[in-house]
Amino acid sequence: MATLQPVRGTHDLLPQDERRHRVVAEAARAISGRYGFEAMATPIFEFTEVFARSIGETSDIVSKEMYTFADRDGEQVTLRPENTAGVARAIVSNALTQSLPQRFFYYGPMFRYERPQKGRYRQFHQIGIELIGVDQPLADVEVIACGADILSELGLLERTRLDLNTIGDTESRAAYRATLIEYFSAYKDRLSADSLTRLERNPLRILDSKDEGDRQLVASAPLFGDSLTTEAKDFFASVKAGLDALGIAYHLEPRLVRGLDYYCHTTFEFVTQDLGTQGTVMAGGRYDGLIAEMGGPTISGIGWASGVERLALMIAEPPPPPRPLVLAPLGEAAELRCLALGRDLRRAGFTVEQSHSGNLKKRLARANKINALAALIMGDDELASGSIAVRLLDTGSQTIVPIAELAQRLPALLTDVKS
Ligand code: ATP
Ligand code: MG
Repeated sequence: MATLQPVRGTHDLLPQDERRHRVVAEAARAISGRYGFEAMATPIFEFTEVFARSIGETSDIVSKEMYTFADRDGEQVTLRPENTAGVARAIVSNALTQSLPQRFFYYGPMFRYERPQKGRYRQFHQIGIELIGVDQPLADVEVIACGADILSELGLLERTRLDLNTIGDTESRAAYRATLIEYFSAYKDRLSADSLTRLERNPLRILDSKDEGDRQLVASAPLFGDSLTTEAKDFFASVKAGLDALGIAYHLEPRLVRGLDYYCHTTFEFVTQDLGTQGTVMAGGRYDGLIAEMGGPTISGIGWASGVERLALMIAEPPPPPRPLVLAPLGEAAELRCLALGRDLRRAGFTVEQSHSGNLKKRLARANKINALAALIMGDDELASGSIAVRLLDTGSQTIVPIAELAQRLPALLTDVKS
């Protein structure tokens, strides 16, 4: 039945998947925390305006990928396709513009109506950081370094390359825009329909096109470098000097533009060869125009977002959760006694699953199946004498222990088996 399938492009995260996501998110939270970024969360849906105005009407995201609907009051709302716009909205809504700079980390689901393939889904997750209210180029370096440290913590830095570019300041972009319009206008008959619309409205975006024909034209398009102002060149020189000082290797990629309208100066991506065509694992840049674009004051920002599914595909298998103890009571009285005993053991820090049915053989088989460390068996005799049998499942050896001493003696009894 179709309704018993998840919606196309969405996935259940079963425990082994969730575990991979958690490793990624927790490494990112811990490392970004050391840079002073603190976790915050915005709602997963916002007024459509929040995204439409900031990301830009001609972007793939706004023109094709947003999950937008009218709610029951007729409000146009959208499931967030990314989180920078939401964070910027929150900074204004909460009057945080009075206390800058601000450093935020986020982790959560994003939604884009895309053609699903490996590493590209309709519901996916991003981690990201935003540093708001710092104009200096070394802030860009710090934000990139934080991303590199997270990849390194996950064992992935060596498998990625940092692509770096600048798209200059407003003046540089205006000059480059004119150059691009002139160049692409000569090929109007060869441009894709999407790029024809972009030509007048946002020609920079043609550089980000995935259309094969567009890409051929883009390959010989004029480079940004020639349109950069002295200020923009100096800014970029400082970013490169900062990365050099930290020994962070980068590859200059003159055609790297971010697909979103609000970016300026530094743009960067960490890319890998290991995921086929979905090779970008982390992407970011400076967005000094964003908050003003949304109707707030002019405040600079820099950040990146990273696809958790893509990182989760690449990391080493995370360790499984601790092997549990299985409580195996036989008979009603023992069941009740074990219910309380299990709770005491958990409070003492043990992982305990109570088995609820079957004879001893069945219960032991089930305990083996879940890879338990030991079965704690309580029959009528043990109940009467206030004791319990601790049976190590790896060796089959069994010890009778007074219940009152159980929590205290368990660690020694378990030392010989691998947790
Ligand atoms: P692409 O060019 O691959 O479509 P994008 O420019 O749309 O990427 P961003 O908006 O910069 O991507 O998102 C940042 C990161 O989030 C990407 O580099 C990627 O790792 C991840 N990401 C983006 N879209 C998806 C998706 N649909 N499914 C899974 N991960 C995604
Ligand atoms: Mg995309």
